[in-house]
Amino acid sequence: MIADSFGRVHDYLRISLTDNCNFRCFYCMPEEEYDFTPASRLMQPAEVLALAKIFVEQGVKKIRLTGGEPLVRKDAAEIISALGKLPVELVITTNGTRIAEMLPVLIEAGIKTVNISLDTLQPEKFFMITRRDVFHQVRSNIELLLQHKIVVKINMVVMKGLNDGEIKDFINWTKHNPIQIRFIEFMPFTGNKWTSNKMFSLQEILDVVEKSFVVLPVESSPNDTAKHFMIPGHEGSFAIISTMTAPFCSTCNRMRLTADGKLKNCLFSDGETDLLHALRNKEDVLPLIMSSIWSKKKELGGQLVANFENLDTEAIKNRSMITIGG
Ligand code: SAM
Ligand code: SF4
Repeated sequence: MIADSFGRVHDYLRISLTDNCNFRCFYCMPEEEYDFTPASRLMQPAEVLALAKIFVEQGVKKIRLTGGEPLVRKDAAEIISALGKLPVELVITTNGTRIAEMLPVLIEAGIKTVNISLDTLQPEKFFMITRRDVFHQVRSNIELLLQHKIVVKINMVVMKGLNDGEIKDFINWTKHNPIQIRFIEFMPFTGNKWTSNKMFSLQEILDVVEKSFVVLPVESSPNDTAKHFMIPGHEGSFAIISTMTAPFCSTCNRMRLTADGKLKNCLFSDGETDLLHALRNKEDVLPLIMSSIWSKKKELGGQLVANFENLDTEAIKNRSMITIGG
């Protein structure tokens, strides 16, 4: 069992397969020119599997593959197939561009839930956010997943003045589709131009939805990072991930492995532990995992403790989101 000093058992591992991506979402990528990590410094398929196995032996029940864009890795299929054989719930977060070609691999690996990031339902705005003109490809891949009865969750980062006006459109999408919309509060990471006035909060999101719909809260599962809601008569549902205004740290069970094999005990931790280096040197990795998690801070990596309106983002020591793995 992997636990921290606050008694939180950690049984959910998020593995970033790459910091490379075929999109350029401004809220995720650093502002300056960014060189993706060369393949030799990334965990190789056998290394991903070896590290994952250590976590699973210690009670990890769920693994999420993320990135960068996990499905742009040339050997993504090999890694997904290998992890699919472990006794865990395997899920993935993707920008949705490579779903059509990867679907047989995902199904074969037993993936039953796919989170797709989609911040707008307007093609021009999609291009503005991602710098890629593939809105219709992503939309048709979402339909493909639904046709195959795969659970689809849509991650929508809500940013004031950019897409907060579309909250109602996303809710309308759930009327006849069994999708879950996950509205995410915009979070600050190195180089992502976060300012508090671009934040659209849990309460603001709820206020918008409640103006037009009857909203009923749904009980969350114990380690959930989202607050869940339903609207009577809608096939789908929605949730809000309120990391900035109402964080979920007290029940956190998450650990993150970056694509270069560093363990982060929190999305906002300022430190990391190099598991890949230890693995390549044939050192015992488990004590490193245990002590990293034991030293986890109570909340938000000990870094985002101020009210979000007073946050000094320059003082936050972290990676950019694309190099952590969201
Ligand atoms: N490329 C994949 C994708 O876009 O789904 C996986 C990686 S992406 C970093 C994972 C999630 O992090 C996405 O849903 C994205 O919207 C979210 N994300 C990235 N930067 C964020 C930020 N600054 N605040 C909130 N969510 C963010
Ligand atoms: Fe790529 Fe996902 Fe980041 Fe967008 S949010 S740049 S798709 S990793």
